[in-house]
Amino acid sequence: CPDFSGRVICVLIGKLKNKIWRRRMKIIMLGAPGAGKGTQAKKIAAQYSIPHISTGDIFRANIKNNTELGQKAKTYMDKGELVPDSLVVDLIMDRFKEADCANGYVLDGFPRTIPQAEALDNALKANGEKVDFAINVEVPDENIINRMSGRRACVGCGATYHIKYNPTKVEGVCDACGEKLILRDDDKPETVKNRLSVYHEQTQPLIDYYNKAGVLAEVDGTKDMEDVFKDIVNILGK
Ligand code: AMP
Repeated sequence: CPDFSGRVICVLIGKLKNKIWRRRMKIIMLGAPGAGKGTQAKKIAAQYSIPHISTGDIFRANIKNNTELGQKAKTYMDKGELVPDSLVVDLIMDRFKEADCANGYVLDGFPRTIPQAEALDNALKANGEKVDFAINVEVPDENIINRMSGRRACVGCGATYHIKYNPTKVEGVCDACGEKLILRDDDKPETVKNRLSVYHEQTQPLIDYYNKAGVLAEVDGTKDMEDVFKDIVNILGK
């Protein structure tokens, strides 16, 4: 932009584009359990000022509070199985009604089946909207089992770490709230194997689904956490 008035116009256009663009930030994170999509989703949420919505976190909060939903979900989660679509879809639709979703959201762990993806599409279509980006964080199965056994979750706030790739400042203690860290039941090797086979059977078809919808982007999840995030920002735009 050469002169002062030109620069002013550029700034105004930039702000306008930003406004329109921000309204369209509906992002889905795809990838096997343990691929690092939760970590990346949190970083995306902070960078673009949109909420990070994790269905797994919502279920875990319900289990902690011993709600009816939590008790139902736990029986499936402990075995590494998916919670039935009927329980998940209503839960997420209610979450979208909250004010913080006005500019979009990054979904982590939803959708996980084709019927869930269709329910999401139909709900968005009713408002003239659609999913803007589906980001697939690719990590081979052999890396996943290795990674999950090193994952630790905080009993207090649910924050997740990795003993090697994302360690806490003090071993076994959550950086965010100071509570102790544990290996979650659903991160134990036998459960992880089942979660991976459930993923390949029920969730992987979503890659093709979003590819056909023209919104799929893939990133190499074996890279360093910060490098994966840089690749994601290149896809989403600065
Ligand atoms: P996550 O923390 O996303 O790996 O989710 C942990 C567990 O919660 C999964 O293994 C499922 O049992 C359950 N879960 C989370 N999201 C969904 C979903 N969209 N559909 C069905 N089950 C889910």
